[in-house]
Amino acid sequence: MSKIEWCDRTLNPIRGLCPHECPYCYMAKIHRRFGTGQETTEHWNDVYDALLRVRKPTTFFVGSAYDIFAEPSLHMHEILLFSAFKNPASTVILLTKNPKAYKFLANKHKRSFLGASLDGKHYTDFNGGHDLLDFISVEPLLAPVKLPETSARALIIGGLTGHGSPYKHTPIEWVDDVLKQALDSGMKVFIKDNLKDYMAPLEAKYGVSLRQLLWKVRG
Ligand code: SF4
Repeated sequence: MSKIEWCDRTLNPIRGLCPHECPYCYMAKIHRRFGTGQETTEHWNDVYDALLRVRKPTTFFVGSAYDIFAEPSLHMHEILLFSAFKNPASTVILLTKNPKAYKFLANKHKRSFLGASLDGKHYTDFNGGHDLLDFISVEPLLAPVKLPETSARALIIGGLTGHGSPYKHTPIEWVDDVLKQALDSGMKVFIKDNLKDYMAPLEAKYGVSLRQLLWKVRG
């Protein structure tokens, strides 16, 4: 079971220090603390087994602790999506700060959802990946964000969590601003628990549920 509210399980085919080294990365903090992560290891077969074996409908976030598209490998990503396709119970969620790399995916089936991560401060490299996206994640929202024009149909909004990083650092005005952009574009929006105090006033303001996830609509 995952602690991430929008998925059931996480899988990490690559483990080690993620090349992006985001300052808020919980895994980078763990690696720094224990002096680990310098050598990356690969666990693709474990991922494929999990995707193929599951019987109960399960949403997998693949690459939660290492951006597997930071240095894309065409062959591996094709197999990943193909594996999921053969099991209708598996839903695969991918998220990257390098969405241009989705161009390397030869196949995309309807139980895979491609996301781009924006935090308002650090660079996310679209460069042609705009039309391939299903969703955008602004988590943690570190500054006001202008959503780029993309094919994304959904937005996830989250604050900064972890020791010394209370969500109060994410003002409601920033959340409201990006939320309005998303709703104006017809996107579904999911606000994470770490911003839950903002949920009721914003739901009342816009008259919509702010706990909508694309992949919960099965079909
Ligand atoms: S992209 Fe994700 S996994 Fe990679 S350093 Fe940033 S927070 Fe960590």
